[in-house]
Amino acid sequence: MRSGHIGVHEDRGRDTIRSVTATIIDGKTIAARVRERVKREVEELVAAGLPAPGLATVLVGEDPASAVYVGGKQRACVEVGMTPYDERLPADASFEQVAGRLQALDDDPAVSGILLQLPLPDHLHDPTLTGLIDARKDVDGLTPINAGLLSLGRPGLRPCTPSGVMELLASVDARLEGAEAVVVGRSNLFGKPMAQLLLEANATVTVCHSRTRDLREVCARADILIAAVGRPRLIERDFVKPGAIVIDVGMNRLTPEQAATKSGLVGDVDFDAVREVASAITPVPGGVGPMTIAMLLANTVKAARVQSGYAVSPLGEAERMPA
Ligand code: NAP
Repeated sequence: MRSGHIGVHEDRGRDTIRSVTATIIDGKTIAARVRERVKREVEELVAAGLPAPGLATVLVGEDPASAVYVGGKQRACVEVGMTPYDERLPADASFEQVAGRLQALDDDPAVSGILLQLPLPDHLHDPTLTGLIDARKDVDGLTPINAGLLSLGRPGLRPCTPSGVMELLASVDARLEGAEAVVVGRSNLFGKPMAQLLLEANATVTVCHSRTRDLREVCARADILIAAVGRPRLIERDFVKPGAIVIDVGMNRLTPEQAATKSGLVGDVDFDAVREVASAITPVPGGVGPMTIAMLLANTVKAARVQSGYAVSPLGEAERMPA
């Protein structure tokens, strides 16, 4: 193992394995760094005479948690100098109404990025509506075109949470090439794109799910272990190889008493036990969570740069560099 890298278990000899106390990966600080970078990029575009990037969020219905998430995205957008567009539709909006609103945003040159807040009310079909977003404005990276570009290893807009995890891994200088990476969870939103990004970074990737036989044994092989399941503290100490880097994507809301935290939020990893064997670990809250919005902003400025001719489009259209 090269010095300065962590995450790949050192062979310390048969009887010399020592207890490690993990580095806590501070997602808040790393997310703040990403936001600063985005802010500078926005300033650069504006200084070149281009409009500030615009981010449209589309919220259908009044789900309180979704309203909180959308509010956070709108505020973050303003903080980095972008223009927010807050689109709201009633819970009983028809498919045609939502599709029509998305089409209008696709056609609006002031809108660089579009985020359709999920989940949608039951009578609407998330994948069909998400698929209507112009791939160049798909800052969530969830349209079939962007998912396809990712799986082909071609540039495109990547889903925010997995991209955020890659930033967290880079922050601890994790060596991914040749590493055993295990992702627990195979959702389209997180697990699958996460696996693709790790593969792109030359890790050897295993994806686990609810039918995986002997999850404990598979996880214990991992140099990089990423849990995105939605089961409080599923990943126990003996799931983790000494020296592994553990990224906890899970966000499970319990009562403050059950969680033994003020927020009542716990991850999929038994943090207190696992931090004693891992080399680095993300806390919940304050680990992966803050990265998602930061990467949404990063995707929006990237989309704006491509649309304005500042960067080459991954979709292959002829681009015009600004004067
Ligand atoms: P999801 O769509 O419900 O997927 C959960 C995955 O976990 C599925 O692939 C499922 O397997 C697998 N699974 C369920 N029980 C399992 C078990 N006992 N052993 C092994 N695998 C099991 O969830 P998601 O959208 O990916 O989200 C996962 C968690 O991450 C949630 O807590 C969510 O809140 C959190 N999250 C956080 C952020 C953030 O910004 N921090 C973003 C996204 C998600 P099957 O496919 O076989 O059903």
